[in-house]
Amino acid sequence: MDVSILTLFPQIFQPLLKSSILNKAQKQGKLRVNLVDLRKFGIGGYWQVDDRVYGGGVGMILRVEPIAKAIAKLKIKKQKSKIILLDPQGKKFNQKTALRLAKEKYLVLICGKYEGVDERVRKIVDEEISIGDYVLSGGEIPAMAVVDAITRILPGVLEKEATQNESFSSAAIGRKKAILLEPPQYTRPEEFEGMKVPKILLSGNHQEIAKWRAQEALKKTKKLRPDLLN
Ligand code: SAM
Repeated sequence: MDVSILTLFPQIFQPLLKSSILNKAQKQGKLRVNLVDLRKFGIGGYWQVDDRVYGGGVGMILRVEPIAKAIAKLKIKKQKSKIILLDPQGKKFNQKTALRLAKEKYLVLICGKYEGVDERVRKIVDEEISIGDYVLSGGEIPAMAVVDAITRILPGVLEKEATQNESFSSAAIGRKKAILLEPPQYTRPEEFEGMKVPKILLSGNHQEIAKWRAQEALKKTKKLRPDLLN
């Protein structure tokens, strides 16, 4: 997958892209990240990217032209790019969206800044994504959250089983499918301050362990996220 990230702060991304699974996916050739400095598409001698809001009000917003120019340039090479604006007004990001976007070949993520973007930017993107009902100061953290969530489910990046049994993956309950949280997990020691690892997990009986995990996943989901079962 090719991901282009339009941002005024390309340097922010490097430490994360050079770590852990994101680094591995790039080395495997499964992920290519193109950091596009929006400032280079700025207007005039000062490469202006922002401006005051018509009608008055505090702060500046990103102008539409630098973003439009950057998108146009990227589209010349990759016409089938899916263009996404990170924005608190967008559709809430979840695992289902990550799975859908993981099927795309080319993604373009636009990071807003300041007080947001000129409303006309919304007309030149394919969709808007929010990572939650709160306001961050820029789209860089949301963009990284999206890239990270997508990368770990790209085929071959992690072992299939690792992502199939995770929280928010679809599991069978009898004949029905449901979205569940992951069941409880333990590692050594077998006992910590009186808290013991459930005996079944030490039994070596894989069939019974699988049954226990399915029951616990359902129990946990009912308790913590009953909304997922609706
Ligand atoms: N004034 C805007 C509003 O009230 O909707 C908020 C602008 S925010 C300070 C600046 C930028 O951060 C946004 O343009 C967006 O790119 C990014 N951003 C902030 N919160 C976000 C969220 N929850 N999800 C996705 N992007 C977000």
